[in-house]
Amino acid sequence: MKLAVVGAGITGLAAGYEAAKAGAEVVVYESAGRAGGRILTSDLAGQPVDEGPDAFLARVPWAVELCQELGLATELVPPAQRAAFVYSRGALRALPQPNVMGVPLDFDSLAASGIVSAAGVDRARQEPALAGSPLAEDKSVGSLVRRRLGDEVADRLVDPLIGGINASSIDDLSMRAAVPQLAEAASRGPSLVRELRRLAASSTADPSAPVFYTLPDGLGRLADELAHRLGDQLQLSSPVADLDDLDADGVIVTLPAPTASALVAPVSAAAAKMLHRIDYASVVLVSLAFNKADVDHPMAGSGYLVPAVEGHTITACSWASSKWTHIGTDETVVLRVSAGRYGDDRALALDDDALVEAVRADLTATMGLDARPHTVRISRWERSLPQFRPGHLDLVADIERELAHDAPWLQVTGAWARGLGVPACIHQGRQAAQASLAEGAIAR
Ligand SMILES: Cc1cc2nc3c(=O)[nH]c(=O)nc-3n(C[C@H](O)[C@H](O)[C@H](O)COP(=O)(O)OP(=O)(O)OC[C@H]3O[C@@H](n4cnc5c(N)ncnc54)[C@H](O)[C@@H]3O)c2cc1C
Repeated sequence: MKLAVVGAGITGLAAGYEAAKAGAEVVVYESAGRAGGRILTSDLAGQPVDEGPDAFLARVPWAVELCQELGLATELVPPAQRAAFVYSRGALRALPQPNVMGVPLDFDSLAASGIVSAAGVDRARQEPALAGSPLAEDKSVGSLVRRRLGDEVADRLVDPLIGGINASSIDDLSMRAAVPQLAEAASRGPSLVRELRRLAASSTADPSAPVFYTLPDGLGRLADELAHRLGDQLQLSSPVADLDDLDADGVIVTLPAPTASALVAPVSAAAAKMLHRIDYASVVLVSLAFNKADVDHPMAGSGYLVPAVEGHTITACSWASSKWTHIGTDETVVLRVSAGRYGDDRALALDDDALVEAVRADLTATMGLDARPHTVRISRWERSLPQFRPGHLDLVADIERELAHDAPWLQVTGAWARGLGVPACIHQGRQAAQASLAEGAIAR
């Protein structure tokens, strides 16, 4: 079986690696002059600072397993700081513990956090006793959380966390595709909090185990290692415009949905039409390096989230040099600030100078930081985060069904499919390679 993989983001790299490992003849085609796609580490004031993802989830196996196979597991590092904050009601406040994706499991801790008002706490306290029925169909995260816990918890805790990861409002986000652990709890009984507590109590996972990992040279190291393993099976600066141009029996397309749609259209109009429906959000990441002497904030934690209802430009600020021991020096403090989400491109519309001024104004307002950074880097990620609307997983199943019918030699996957995190992308890429090489797989 001769395989062609289109795209060398983490999905395509993982697909190519899996195919090569299985002994297949494989070529990975990448339009850019480098591999990694959204994964990109570059130098900021002498530090390896990620421009895209800076860590991956440790509690799903796929990224950790791949690092083990690649001999990188001993290098993995968890964040040095676990505490995270929300800027709410005029101050930075620690997230209540325990919580699952912002859903508080202890209402006294919620009250102590000050993130929501006393009325907001009272409303949330009613949740375990509220009538309702288990979730039977996919709904938006917002519809469930607002109904169960009230608007304050939804807007000031759950939206900043879940909406932040997805660059989306929770009111538009599919429970099942975006937060399967909440969907699982909601399907078990009417009370989200009670079911989440039950799931936590029955979990065998070590609560002190790291939630995230990264590599000390930045996540770019993972992409580089996969590219290195692929060697001349990876062809950079090689955009694919037509699947007919590929000399292969099987093809795996790992591009963002709109680009994949155009490529797939000649062989499956139905799949292309559905791929085209998947929308994307744009985000911008501003990394700033300061002289340590100019910064008097203790930054005792990994950083903070800024709820959209607070009306600021920034959505999150990672205290990168507190979060990671490999970033920052005795003289330098590094922050990574995010802005933009679906439907809010105000930050992206600003030119570089205006954007930095808006970010600085927000840093002053939220953490009292007035200092001027000595180095700034702006990473604009336009249309980079796929939006999972309610019913998304059904749409993905429909796309796969159409493809299996119209072009059984073709697999199409990537961040837009069943998960946009790095581990999910790795899993989806490897699965696509396995499906292409499985016994009985149909060649073109
Ligand atoms: C700012 C930001 C922060 C993030 N933070 C995290 C995080 O902390 N943790 C986490 O797990 N996830 C995070 N994510 C999500 C995650 O990084 C992405 O979902 C994932 O990297 C996408 O990988 P992919 O391979 O599916 O797509 P991409 O990375 O988009 O790769 C697609 C590749 O295809 C190439 N290509 C496009 N057209 C063609 C063509 N015609 N021919 C050949 N090649 C083509 C592109 O150049 C690109 O290299 C973040 C994303 C962003 C944008």
